Amino acid sequence: MVSRVIPVDTFDLVIFGGTGDLARRKILPGLYRRFVAEQMPADARIIGAARSEFDDDGYRAFVAEALDEFLPASLRDAKAEAEFLARLSYIPIDARGTGGWKELAATVRKDVIHAFYFSVGPGLFGDLAERLHEYKIADAQSRVVVEKPFGRDLESARALNAVLAASFDETQIYRIDHYLGKETVQNLMAVRFGNVLFEPLWNSQYIDHIQITVAETVGVGGRGGYYDKSGAMRDMVQNHLMQLLCLIAMEPPSHFDPDAVRDEKLKVIRALEPIEPHQLVRGQYGPDGDKPGYREDVEDPQSRTESFIAMKTQIANWRWAGTPFYLRTGKKLKSRMSEIAIFFKRTRHSIFTENEGEHQNVLIIRLQPDEGMTLTVTIKEPGPGGMRLVDVPLDMSFAEALGPHAEDVPDAYERLIMDVIRGNQTLFMRGDEVEAAWAWTDPIIEGWQKRGDVPKPYDTGSSGPDDALMLLHRDGRRWREIRPEGS
Ligand code: NAD
Repeated sequence: MVSRVIPVDTFDLVIFGGTGDLARRKILPGLYRRFVAEQMPADARIIGAARSEFDDDGYRAFVAEALDEFLPASLRDAKAEAEFLARLSYIPIDARGTGGWKELAATVRKDVIHAFYFSVGPGLFGDLAERLHEYKIADAQSRVVVEKPFGRDLESARALNAVLAASFDETQIYRIDHYLGKETVQNLMAVRFGNVLFEPLWNSQYIDHIQITVAETVGVGGRGGYYDKSGAMRDMVQNHLMQLLCLIAMEPPSHFDPDAVRDEKLKVIRALEPIEPHQLVRGQYGPDGDKPGYREDVEDPQSRTESFIAMKTQIANWRWAGTPFYLRTGKKLKSRMSEIAIFFKRTRHSIFTENEGEHQNVLIIRLQPDEGMTLTVTIKEPGPGGMRLVDVPLDMSFAEALGPHAEDVPDAYERLIMDVIRGNQTLFMRGDEVEAAWAWTDPIIEGWQKRGDVPKPYDTGSSGPDDALMLLHRDGRRWREIRPEGS
């Protein structure tokens, strides 16, 4: 199966922060892949804008190095790369000063799609937005893309929304959560709303509980200073896990269009029940042999920031009352694994005597490392000897399903950038969604701060603190195992 590529209209994309880590690792390699997939029109242009002093050729050499570092050799092609680099130009610019703005105004074409990617710290959003208007570079057709973190609490998120709203209409603002760009996450909507099989069962009558796991093996690395002010709740739960929860729990939108989808997601966030202290476990990874633990990594022996969090959440609405959603995410865990597992209830009455009560349908949506879906189905174990039941997976791995063309599947950033160019906001967070997510998150964080809660230590390479296991054991349930990659 070859993935179908629909070319976009021509565009000018300005990347503020075009020399930064995100631009090098994700944005520019992603654009190159879309170019190689022939999705970009011949005269589309990418304009890097940042503080470093490069000329166009210097920037092209800089980007070529980034492609070297972050693209698989199979995608490299000298001719394609030269053509891609020819679309790039660079303007040294200071978001807080005057340098570079007139050149940018003279460069950006207003008669084609023009988008501005704010790949800089949120402290610069206001400066960029103001100057884009002051120099008449932006207009009512412009699009702006902003990155996480979108605030660190409700107040700061409101302030950021206000800064953007002063210059742009909500329909022009694309808040990226790259989890929403993942193939499987969108497949979640296809599975729910494109099949007759699942939706009738998609409620508390048939679903026992849901687990969302985002496990990482890395620690805080060089981001210790930033991470320690944030923690797993702000860095992962408030955005990525919450977005996944919304897509699982939302009502069917009337259309697959941006506001219809986002209205339904917002209703889910607003229906989340407050979290009581016993529904939550926070953890911090300890040292591993001679490798430092969390507190050494962030250079604060007293740090109370969590590198792991597990929680039981409930949605107070007709569809979900009684079905818990268990969320967990953490660093330095056993393996890198992100998945959503939907545990259906057991059959109401078993007509079989053997293995009674042992079986349960589970729909697993794997986000990484190997994007795909599995549905476990109970069947008869083959062979003579009576009716023995066994759970077998109906497995759909995208890599296998797409065979040699699996590499054609765009990664999350590529897809989202192309959605910006298409003007499709469905997979981007709306301002009110972000604020509602913070409004739910803030009291939880305030609660543990008031209580002086200290995160529980856990071993590197484990599944988190034992208390996280207890969170489910108390309810007579178990977490799915965090399995090593490839198993
Ligand atoms: P970075 O520090 O590597 O790069 C920052 C960029 O901003 C550089 O190009 C720098 O020249 C430019 N810049 C800084 N001050 C400027 C000014 N006054 N005027 C003009 N340009 C200026 O940061 P990054 O890691 O690329 O992150 C960029 C944004 O993306 C941040 O908001 C970050 O939180 C977010 N983000 C990054 C990642 C990632 O993996 N790096 C992931 C998610 C979100």
